[in-house]
Formats: sequence, C-alpha cells, structure tokens
Amino acid sequence: NLVAPGESVRPDFPILATRVGPRPLVYLDNAATAQKPRRVLDAITDHYTGANANVGRGYYQLSHLATDVYEQARATVQHAINAEHADEVVFVPGTTAAVNLLVDTFGRDRLRAGDQVVVTGMEHNSNLLPWRRLCESVGAELVLVAADDRGRVTGEAFDAALGPKTRLAAVTHVSNVLGTVNPVRDMVASAHRRDIPVVVDGAQAVPHRQVDVRELDADFYVFSGHKVYGPMGIGVLYGRRELLHALQPYQVGGGTVKGVSLTEPVRYVPVPARLEAGTPHIPGAVGLAAAFEYLADIGWDAIRAHDDTLVRAAVAAVLDTPDARVVGDPAADPSGIVSFVVDGIHPYDVGGHLDAHGIAVRSGVHCANTFVDTFGVVGTVRLSFGVYNTEAEVAVVREALSTVKPGFWTAEHPTERFL
Ligand code: PMP
Repeated sequence: NLVAPGESVRPDFPILATRVGPRPLVYLDNAATAQKPRRVLDAITDHYTGANANVGRGYYQLSHLATDVYEQARATVQHAINAEHADEVVFVPGTTAAVNLLVDTFGRDRLRAGDQVVVTGMEHNSNLLPWRRLCESVGAELVLVAADDRGRVTGEAFDAALGPKTRLAAVTHVSNVLGTVNPVRDMVASAHRRDIPVVVDGAQAVPHRQVDVRELDADFYVFSGHKVYGPMGIGVLYGRRELLHALQPYQVGGGTVKGVSLTEPVRYVPVPARLEAGTPHIPGAVGLAAAFEYLADIGWDAIRAHDDTLVRAAVAAVLDTPDARVVGDPAADPSGIVSFVVDGIHPYDVGGHLDAHGIAVRSGVHCANTFVDTFGVVGTVRLSFGVYNTEAEVAVVREALSTVKPGFWTAEHPTERFL
C-alpha cells in the first residue's frame, strides 16, 4: 500500500480543510457523495487543459487523443470491477440513469402482463421506482422480498420469492440505509438456476469493497462515480456481453449510428457506443478512472479494515448516548454505514444538532421510504464513512451526541419527514 486510510490521506482532499463556523468540517455523509482527492481533481483539469476534444467524431490528433483517453478510462474501470471485456462497461450519468436505461431496454423487452419482477425490501428509490413504473405500465407484478428484523434479506427468502412468473430480479448489493450486505452471489446463483437475470445496484458497495462482477456472476451491475470518490455525472452500467449487446438503443442520436439515410432503416453501432448517445462525459470518465487508481493505491484490504474500525467506534458512540439505538446490525459486515435513532428526538433535530458541531450527516428516510417504514421509525440518522474519516472524528460525534436534545422538528412536526 502506498498510503494508509485515515489521517494520512486527509491532505489529498482539499475540501476537508473547510470549517463550519469555528469548527472543522466532520464529513460523514459519504453514502450520499464522497469527497474528491486531488488526483481526481487534477485528472479532470489536466483533461480540459491538455486533451479536450470530442471523441470518435474528428479526424485530427486531439480528437484521437481524447478518444484514447476515454477508452483508457473504460479499460481502467473494466479492470477495477474485473469485467471480462471493455465493451461490457457503458458510461452513464449514474446509478439512477443506469437503472432507467435497463428498465426501458432490457426490462421492457422481457416483461409481459402477468409476469413478476423481484426486488428486495431494502431498495433505494432509484432501484425501485423505475421497476415499479415498468410493472404498472405492462401489467406485471413487483414482488418485494422483506428484510428480517436485523435488516437483512437472506438468500433463502430471496430464493422463495422466485417463481415461474419471475422474469428478472433487481437487488441492491449494500443497503444505503443500514450498510447491510446482501448475499448477492447466492442470490444470483439461485436466480440463474431458474434462468432469471439479475440487475445489481452496486452504488453503496463499490466504495467499500473490491467488486468482482465475474465472481458475483451478475448480469448487470450499476453504480455511480461520485460515491466512489469520482466526479458527479458519471456512472457505470456493466452488463454481461451477450445480454448487453442484445439491447436496443435507449436514447438515439449522435454517436449511436453507422449510417443514416432517409430511406433505409437506421443501422446502429455496437455497444458500448450504441448506449452512449450524444457527447459523453469524457472528463467524468477520466476522473472516475483516477479515483479507482487512487483507491487501488490505498488497497481494498486497508479500506475494509478502516471501515471496520470506524463502524465499531461509531456503534460504541451511539450505544453510549442515552436513549439512542442502532438500527440493523452494521458491525456484522461493515460497509461504512451506521444508522441510528435517539428515542424521543426527531432525526432532523439530531442532524441539526450535529451540524451545529460541524458534523455533516444525513437524517431522514434516505430515499428508501418503504424500507425505513419497516423499522417503525420516522427516519434515522446515518453516519457514513470514507477513507479520510478518523476515530478522532467519531469522538467528536460522541461528544456532540452527549448534549443532543429535542428541538424544532420534535416539537413542531413529531412525525414529519421528507427525504
Ligand atoms: N442506489 C443506491 C443504493 C444509492 O445509495 C443511491 C444514491 N443514494 C442510488 C442508487 C442513486 O444514485 P445516483 O443518485 O447517483 O443516481
């Protein structure tokens, strides 16, 4: 390893020098988006200053360079997730965009009235609402596999939900609410025994573990660059070659066609360009590749160990807070997330109190309303860790929590929630 996570990587992240009033920023909302290391910021600037041109469209050297750089970024991502071929990696704006693409191409092609789509009960709205809308529009049924009281969906429960009408399954790898890790490999195996393809939402997994799409045997695996220390506006749709190459275009336009005449049928180029209509987010792809290189330098074992340390420290801090309890079982397989509630205090009030101490956390339902509902709470407070967080920061949280008390939300809107 070139660098160890924690204190020693903090200088790589310029934003961490930010102060919130008199206090240093304690950024613990990494599950919403991660901060960017200088390596990523520099890669983006270098691209715009030295290689900016459109790809695949110009017969001049700078355009060839931009095309090479873009394809190199694709190869870096391919190797980072252990895809077999570079053309199995499609650049998209993010996880939400990838799921919507799959719904409108793969899903719409496969699904007929009376069919079923199986999802878990812990999906983020981005891997729930697109499938729900598709099911509603074709008269299919969306089947939710409920989590147990520790917030886990077991392989057995998932297996039991699959049946002769199941045409596809869409499951999250790691819950954005609790950090729970689903047994995706087993889930995929049981789906494949019935010839059911599986879409995996890896948005919360990719920042915390070395994802190997071949080992998981996922048919599609999607994630966002911005949660993995890359830029916003870039994400990845991985697809197994034979399935991906069979997809019809999602959006059509520049970059997707071989030739167009007004009289002949349109001939589309192969994947990945076929699914990347319009000018791609080239500096985004370059920045994402830089982020994966940065993480490789830290090393995935060190990242896992660091998550483990911080999650355990955070759980201890919460347990030390009067009337606070942890939701789920984050220490079981730490993915850098600890969700908790303080009985009698609205999560927004807890979040506001922490903010007054310079601590940035997310409170509410985390775009997973239906999952949070199952715990009988109006929302949770979520601490989510990145490679630059430290035990000293968890100590700041512990200290701040020792003085938390009911406030505006608890008094005025005891059960109100939005996000
Ligand atoms: N799925 C999960 C599990 C997520 O955590 C998120 C982001 N919170 C998304 C999907 C959506 O990602 P994006 O907003 O980057 O499209």
